[in-house]
Amino acid sequence: MSTDGGLGLVILGRQGSGKGTQALRLAERYGVVHISTGDMLRAAVAEGSPLGLRARTIMDAGDLVPDDIMCEIVADRLERDDVVTHGFLLDGFPRTLAQAEALVEVAGDAIDLAINLDVPVDEVTRRMVARGRADDTPDAIARRLSLYEEQTEPLLAWFDDRGRLAVVDGIGSETDVFGRLCAAIESLHAAADEA
Ligand code: AMP
Repeated sequence: MSTDGGLGLVILGRQGSGKGTQALRLAERYGVVHISTGDMLRAAVAEGSPLGLRARTIMDAGDLVPDDIMCEIVADRLERDDVVTHGFLLDGFPRTLAQAEALVEVAGDAIDLAINLDVPVDEVTRRMVARGRADDTPDAIARRLSLYEEQTEPLLAWFDDRGRLAVVDGIGSETDVFGRLCAAIESLHAAADEA
C-alpha cells in the first residue's frame, strides 16, 4: 500500500508510557487514522467474535497475540480507503521483528517515522499500578514489560538502522510531551523540504 499524501507514523513505547493518549492527540493534529491494535482486540473481545474469544486469555495474561493473526488484522486495516487517503498512526504495532517485517512488506515506503516515547521501567510500573485497570495485575504488568524488553525493544535499532527512528522523552506533562512529539514529526517535514 501507499498513502496519497498523509503521513505514515508508528508510535512505540512501554505500556504506561502515555502512548495511547498521545497517539489520539497526534492523529487529530496530523489528520491521520489512529490504528490501535489493542483497541481493535478489545473491541473483538467485547463483541465475543472468534478472534475476541481467542485473544481474551492471551491479553489477560499479558502475553502477545500470535504474529500471523496480528499481521493479517493490520494488513487488512491498512488497505482501507480512509488510511490510503489520510495516512496512519500505528499504536501497539509492530511489537515483534516479525511484525515489523510484515509491516514493511505491506506499507514499505509509506512509513515516515517511528517514534519511541521513552519512559523508564520504574516510572511506567508506578503509573500502571496507579491506574488500576482490570488487566493490570502485578503479574500481567511484569509479563508485558519483560516481553517489551525482549520482543519490542529490538525494533528501536531496527527502525534506527533504516533512518526512521526518533526518540522522545515521555517524562513531563501531557502537553509538554505532546509538544516534543510534534517537534519530532515536524523536523521530518523540515528535512523533507530541504531534500
Ligand atoms: P495495548 O492496548 O497496545 O497495550 O494492547 C493490549 C494487549 O493486546 C497486549 O498486552 C497484547 O496482549 C495484545 N496486543 C496488542 N497489540 C498487539 C500486537 N501488535 N501483537 C501482539 N499482541 C498485541
